[in-house]
Amino acid sequence: MDMCYAIPGKVLDIKDKIVTVDYFGERKRARNEFHDLAPGDYIYAQGGFVIEKVLPDKALGVLESWQEVFSNLREADLRLAERPKNMYEIANSVRQRNTGNACCVHGIVEFSNHCVQDCLYCGIRKSNSSVKRYRMSADEIVSACDYAVNELNFKALVLQSGEDPYYTGEMLCDIIRKVRQVCATLLVVSVGERGVELYKRLYEAGSRGALLRFETANPGLYGKYRPGKILEDRKRLIKSLKELGYLVMTGFLVGLPGQTDEDIINDIDLTGKLGGEIFSFGPFLPHPGTPLNGAARPKLERALETIARARISYPDSKILVTSALETLDKDGARRGLLAGANSLMINVTPDRYQRLYEIYPGRAGTGIMVSKRIESAVALLKSLGRAPSDLGL
Ligand code: SF4
Repeated sequence: MDMCYAIPGKVLDIKDKIVTVDYFGERKRARNEFHDLAPGDYIYAQGGFVIEKVLPDKALGVLESWQEVFSNLREADLRLAERPKNMYEIANSVRQRNTGNACCVHGIVEFSNHCVQDCLYCGIRKSNSSVKRYRMSADEIVSACDYAVNELNFKALVLQSGEDPYYTGEMLCDIIRKVRQVCATLLVVSVGERGVELYKRLYEAGSRGALLRFETANPGLYGKYRPGKILEDRKRLIKSLKELGYLVMTGFLVGLPGQTDEDIINDIDLTGKLGGEIFSFGPFLPHPGTPLNGAARPKLERALETIARARISYPDSKILVTSALETLDKDGARRGLLAGANSLMINVTPDRYQRLYEIYPGRAGTGIMVSKRIESAVALLKSLGRAPSDLGL
């Protein structure tokens, strides 16, 4: 199953834009907006969106190679979720019962590390003059996406930058349209607080996911760590993204100085209330070029408890293992996946830029060739009995 992050499914039923898809006897739903489909067709779906129609011969070939592997994986996952004893294992078993062994693997292209904001916890904040800044050109972005989708087989890509108005709405729309011309992929934009109008245009250009974390549900901490910004504005924007039809990825930082246990419960609650479909909880990792240099890193257990609590509160959710969790502990990805998480992100930013996108220091995976990172992610999923079928709607 090398280098394959999605299994094709067979369309069973279509009602308006919602199709029911079969993956080896498991049924998932996906939204279809771009393809002419009939029952019996084969498709790839990602993040609950149909992203590609596949010729039957090709789909059957891939399915055949997966058939046995898939049932072995399913059994391995079931075994690991049996007889839970502690909070992590309970969360893992809730995950297994509600979302099966599916795990989505997304790629991320970080196309600019310029940012006009000054968040105290972030290494690429505008006041950090020690950062070497870069911006990828439209052609570079399109070719990085082309490589990730057509060579490395990713089916979902996040296009991320700091809040960088250098990229106008028109430029971003143009990039999205060009990427969609060459890649069958779910495109997720992560460009900060750029206003509803811009996000509306990006949606029209073909992006269907938006990643925008609120970072903390505590208005006091929010104002302290995001100078000049108001939590309510952020919440309003996230709600608008949802209304526009975006698949919303949102969440918060675990372990910000001053964050209490009660805050974390409120943070999880807000992630769910905002209608986040993919939850992203990154442990806070202090960066030496920021005012929070010297603050303590949270313990791995705190990050894992957060994942587990979220899974128990929102049994159907998709919960991401962030690269910050992998950086906090080299066993972080495995432990996160066993504490309720079911989604992975692999950095596919061209190597020469990747180490410059330093939101926190020592990011896991930086400097390791993308093929190696993919290999170890696939091996990890395999060892835990997880399969890259779509998690559905
Ligand atoms: S967290 Fe985001 S908005 Fe804040 S400084 Fe970093 S990149 Fe900019």
